[in-house]
Amino acid sequence: MRYVSTRGNAPDLSFEDAMLTGLARDGGLYVPAEIPALSHGDIAAMAGLSYEEIAFRVMRPFIGDTFSDADFAELIAKAYAGFGHAARAPLKQLQSNHFLLELFHGPTLAFKDFAMQLIGQLFQAALARRGDRVTIVGATSGDTGSAAMEAFRGLDNVDVFIMFPHGRVSDVQRRQMTTVTEANAHALAITGDFDDCQARLKDMFNHFEFRDRVKLAGVNSINWARVLAQVVYYFSAAVALGAPHRSVSFCVPTGNFGDIFAGYIAKRMGLPIEKLVIATNQNDILHRAMVTSAYTKEGVTPSISPSMDIQVSSNFERALFDAYGRDGRAVAQVMDELQTAGSFQISQGAMEALRETFTSGRASEDETSAMIKRALPEMGELLCPHSAVGVHVAQDHLGTTPLVTLATAHPAKFPDAVEAATGIRPALPPRMADLFEREERMQRVDNDLAALEAVIEGSVFA
Ligand SMILES: *Cc1c(COP(=O)(O)O)cnc(C)c1O
Repeated sequence: MRYVSTRGNAPDLSFEDAMLTGLARDGGLYVPAEIPALSHGDIAAMAGLSYEEIAFRVMRPFIGDTFSDADFAELIAKAYAGFGHAARAPLKQLQSNHFLLELFHGPTLAFKDFAMQLIGQLFQAALARRGDRVTIVGATSGDTGSAAMEAFRGLDNVDVFIMFPHGRVSDVQRRQMTTVTEANAHALAITGDFDDCQARLKDMFNHFEFRDRVKLAGVNSINWARVLAQVVYYFSAAVALGAPHRSVSFCVPTGNFGDIFAGYIAKRMGLPIEKLVIATNQNDILHRAMVTSAYTKEGVTPSISPSMDIQVSSNFERALFDAYGRDGRAVAQVMDELQTAGSFQISQGAMEALRETFTSGRASEDETSAMIKRALPEMGELLCPHSAVGVHVAQDHLGTTPLVTLATAHPAKFPDAVEAATGIRPALPPRMADLFEREERMQRVDNDLAALEAVIEGSVFA
């Protein structure tokens, strides 16, 4: 299986190299050269299997000969062993034909653990075999960073640096990054917002001399291996609800478009997904793009669902690549326009392709709080604000097809917003009850490429 860049101007890579590289050298994102299909029978045979077994069957066609079957199965088993729920991704009924997929039972209480725990295992195995090391740098709006630090802390062949926007992540999110004690894990508090962090990360990847010197690797949601790991729970949920004999739709709280793009891949593989509903908070570039065909940057307005406070949605480029008929030059051109003019118009053909699969909605701050408040008495669920955005938007898409809303984080990760809406302060699970007693360790760094590179090189070559 080969991987190609969405901008059509970087070398094709194997799964292993695409995973270890992250961003392509032409600024694009790696996608599989073709999407493997699972048959009706393959999907029917998943009924009743464990999460790990489904994970193996869904991901196996994408990894080529990177790992043997036995090794791959063992890495999957290790990745999910630390989850706090036997089902890994349990499904709960909220309303008639409306289900919640709980993706917050991993070690850092957000869905990011599904991908990060797995790629921690995959990186370690691949690097040990090569006798190589890498420097992982990530940008986070909160949850990616804690999941990455948790997955890579203490690994021999990896240094991990996470940039987060200073003062813009929740206390729980920050502490999950700053209380990691292993010497190879570094939390960097950047003076700026998440888009600044993400822009500096892209700058580092485009600074080839630095990139090669520190052996830079990326684990942001631009990393294909992360998208792949997330494809699995679309299968496990749909099969539990009767796929392939019955169609299912999903409503996905969205920021960087990684999680929902995984749903698109599941659909392309043959899972009968009717619609994928993009649910945004007030930072609604994707919803506006779906409604108006104009993809236009606006400033980020901080919200109570901070992991979705994003204006440039990186993985949307992958959806555009397919919508533009896999024309890398067309994608490179609209991305250039976005860079220079802050906006581009999605072509009519591409828009039609997108609307075949995706639809969208948004939740304001008031609507999000109201949904958190209402969900407890009416649905018996204490929702995190991100999940509440999804459940709010889902209300406009209920019908005869079962709809699954993704619950992307545990409410205890965002206790202030949940308490403000319900009067109830959600408690952390017992395994992390002492989080607020642990000592914090972080470095403040300006939103400046040279300063960041100096900090990273200072640690890597210390
Ligand atoms: C990352 C995150 C999202 C957004 O996911 P994307 O893949 O960036 O669209 C939503 N909710 C929570 C809790 C998250 O951590």
